[in-house]
Amino acid sequence: MDFQSIYTWIPSGGRPLVIAGPCSAESETQVMQTAHALKEIPRVKVFRAGIWKPRTRPGSFEGVGIAGLSWLMRVKKETGLLTTVEVANPQHVEQALAHGIDILWIGARTVVNPFSVQELAESLSGVDIPVMVKNPLNPDIALWIGAIERFYKNGITKLAAIHRGFYQFEKTSYRNPPQWEIPIELKRRLPGIPVLCDPSHIGGRRNTILPISQQALDLEVDGLMIETHPEPDKAWSDAAQQITPESLKEILDALVIRETSGNLEFERNLEELRHEVDLIDYELIRLLARRMGIAEEMGRYKYAHNITILQLQRWKELFADRIKKGSKAGLDIKFLAALLQLVHEQSIQIQTNVMSGDKEEIKE
Ligand code: PEP
Ligand code: MN
Repeated sequence: MDFQSIYTWIPSGGRPLVIAGPCSAESETQVMQTAHALKEIPRVKVFRAGIWKPRTRPGSFEGVGIAGLSWLMRVKKETGLLTTVEVANPQHVEQALAHGIDILWIGARTVVNPFSVQELAESLSGVDIPVMVKNPLNPDIALWIGAIERFYKNGITKLAAIHRGFYQFEKTSYRNPPQWEIPIELKRRLPGIPVLCDPSHIGGRRNTILPISQQALDLEVDGLMIETHPEPDKAWSDAAQQITPESLKEILDALVIRETSGNLEFERNLEELRHEVDLIDYELIRLLARRMGIAEEMGRYKYAHNITILQLQRWKELFADRIKKGSKAGLDIKFLAALLQLVHEQSIQIQTNVMSGDKEEIKE
């Protein structure tokens, strides 16, 4: 695939290009107030607003719909900012095009579905509008590339990818952990594709927008998409992550724009290893919690059968067995012995708690 530089289709004062605006268009006043404030920030070239909102559960605010499109026409006319909205089906595309929207983006929940993506791509055949494709919710790079290909095959040449992080079942400090190795790999597999980062949906919090944006820039993204609202706390969607235009300006001023190193291979490998370490740690935590749960159960069982907690012979055998296995696996014996001792002590502690807890109950 042959990609155009993002700066050929979005006139920009340079890297990074910034797209900003509310998660959702809520009212004409909110939209106009945000847009006029953003116009004063030179790096902001494109105004975003969700008109049709994909919500996890029914009953939440699902967007103002077509009414919002005329507010965006007003934004364009009064501020000169380009406009972009999320489209999820051919009707959205038709309405967005009829209202002169400049750029379309495809949301993470739509990109997971090749039927939807194909329909969208076909509805754009012969239309020369830029399309930005967010990563799918799940960390599946082939699905992301597949979506980009579907648009490309239908004649869309002005394409960009937006990295917005990936759903992960384990609770982390991110709303959608970035798994940076994936966007880096995307750049390696699709040379020349413009990539933007959406730190708002990755972090899910105001105070992580700056560090995530900085990391994205250091990994050589072309631009940022940042949710901006005049009164973030009152936002009808994604309130915790939206920032005021004033904070956006402060964040953009604080960003350090470094020369690009071109060493993507190194970054990708490092990020892959970091991600692997994260997953292993989560697994260790899960296993330790399970082991302690079993220790508790054993405590109850021993108590019910009037057996002492510490059974020295069993511990000696277990210890010797684990040291033997660990040493075969190449682990340092001293480290493993200390770890086993710590786990054993905690396990005894839990069983002791069970017994004294039960005694308390009996006393009452
Ligand atoms: C959005 O940009 O407001 C949005 C819904 O994003 P995503 O598709 O990344 O969740
Ligand atoms: Mn949002």
